[in-house]
Amino acid sequence: MLSGKLAVVTGSNSGIGLGVARKLAEQGANVVINSFTDNAEDHALAASMAAEFDVKVQYISADMSKGQQCRDLIAKAGDVDILVNNAGIQHVAAVEDFPIDKWDAIIAINMTSVFHTTAACLPGMRARGWGRIVNIASAHGLTASPFKSAYVTAKHGVVGLTKTVALETAEDPITCNAICPGYVLTPLVEAQIPDTMAQYDMDRETVIRDVLLQRQPSKQFATTDQIGGCTTFLCSPSADQITGTTLSVDGGWTAL
Ligand code: NAD
Repeated sequence: MLSGKLAVVTGSNSGIGLGVARKLAEQGANVVINSFTDNAEDHALAASMAAEFDVKVQYISADMSKGQQCRDLIAKAGDVDILVNNAGIQHVAAVEDFPIDKWDAIIAINMTSVFHTTAACLPGMRARGWGRIVNIASAHGLTASPFKSAYVTAKHGVVGLTKTVALETAEDPITCNAICPGYVLTPLVEAQIPDTMAQYDMDRETVIRDVLLQRQPSKQFATTDQIGGCTTFLCSPSADQITGTTLSVDGGWTAL
């Protein structure tokens, strides 16, 4: 379906970004994967994906907290048809205790990078007459939780930017949408389980159901594969008239 298209997925050497990159490659897209590191494993990951899906996969290191590096990533990638803004970090603290460097990093990586990569991609997408921008926001782009002020602010900002870009590109064959996952079982989330078990003196199943998935009515994690499938759907002809919207993948969280 996406044969001949070039996709860039930011923050894609693990977790959701990797799941999305794999789905795009499975559909025939050539893919650029990215993170801020530049080591042998990153390049080996690209080579193994290329062999598995018989597409071109390139790893390009760029730090999404730096505006110029966001723009350089797009310039180095080539003619980008599909942009998936996925890179993101989290920090949990009360507003009055929130470290300023953590606030700045979350706003830069989770939100401002989306502005830079999008701005760098749009001229080429307009010139070539096709483009798909998918922003991996969050249920926290639509709702809030205490102690996640920077993350909630950034993700709400991404949803707002998604709508603005959709309006600015509405008459071009370009769409811009946000996917809003609830909890997805990525290595990042998996790593929180042992500490939470110790903190609450609970077993693994109870931590998952009553703590992590407390707000997720389905009581099931979304998967990276499902987020990838929603991304390829938004790149499919069925989604040509879907723009400026949010697609929740949250087991009913935002229906509460
Ligand atoms: P993850 O930590 O597994 O992946 C984050 C990715 O971003 C990694 O590849 C990491 O290397 C990269 N990254 C971090 N800082 C970067 C930087 N400065 N420059 C470039 N890359 C950088 O986490 P994840 O759970 O897969 O999260 C991916 C996205 O999905 C994030 O935007 C996150 O907010 C969002 N999200 C995750 C969940 C969840 O439950 N896991 C839920 C909703 C939204």
